[in-house]
Amino acid sequence: MASAPAPSEAPADLAGVTRSPVDGHAVVETREVSKVYHMGDVEVQALKGVSLTVERGEFVAIMGASGSGKSTLMGILGCLDRPTSGTYLLDGEDVSELDRDELAWVRNQRIGFVFQSFNLLPRMTALKNVALPLLYSPEDLEGDETPEERALAALETVGLAERVHHRPKELSGGQQQRVAMARALVNRPAIILADEPTGNLDSRSGQEIMAILDGLNRQGVTMVVVTHEDDIAAWARRVVRLHDGEIVLDEVRR
Ligand code: ADP
Ligand code: MG
Repeated sequence: MASAPAPSEAPADLAGVTRSPVDGHAVVETREVSKVYHMGDVEVQALKGVSLTVERGEFVAIMGASGSGKSTLMGILGCLDRPTSGTYLLDGEDVSELDRDELAWVRNQRIGFVFQSFNLLPRMTALKNVALPLLYSPEDLEGDETPEERALAALETVGLAERVHHRPKELSGGQQQRVAMARALVNRPAIILADEPTGNLDSRSGQEIMAILDGLNRQGVTMVVVTHEDDIAAWARRVVRLHDGEIVLDEVRR
């Protein structure tokens, strides 16, 4: 295994960007989670009894061959989907039985997503893209703070304060992914889930993105990153490997 790169320069101070820690329970705790997809008469067992605990402040890489269940697991961890059986406690709360509306609320409040394809709205500026999640939960703002002020603070955290009025197509891939990271941060999630966040980037931009995720993690943000690249996984302090829907390796690194 490749050794972890030297710590990067930390991004701007995250004071007020992370939620204060809640003691006593893990951020993620799955117990014997299984997922079965039905395709006509065929059953696909995408996850087979996955029990995974992620404590606050961890930085976990999830690895495994194509089809091993990584995205299925991320979908469940991110409350985009529910397990067929088993339980999932997010931040101490059982979310395995919530309905669609309740899951949408939990996603907005507790989870920051970063996707391979950035998923930014093309007509909106970076600032508006980042402020968007706040429109669904204005009560998250403090005092007379505006969504734009909170969004600007998140963009500063990812080092993009001078690009706030640019639209996605006026930004490089790495910059677009930084906007997506600011959007993921803006609601002060309990966890950031990133599914192949560097998959569409050249290796240098990919390393820059990982350096920012690393800096956020060092300031307390819990991080789970799916990747199939060793030099991306090298940033994590723990590697979980899936094979055919089962955890076959769970290794803590120095
Ligand atoms: P990975 O992200 O590791 O490539 P996935 O979680 O996407 O793996 O897929 C795991 C297994 O579940 C694969 O066999 C895949 O074909 C199957 N699968 C994933 N999503 C669906 C779906 N929506 N319907 C049916 N089968 C699916
Ligand atoms: Mg996948």
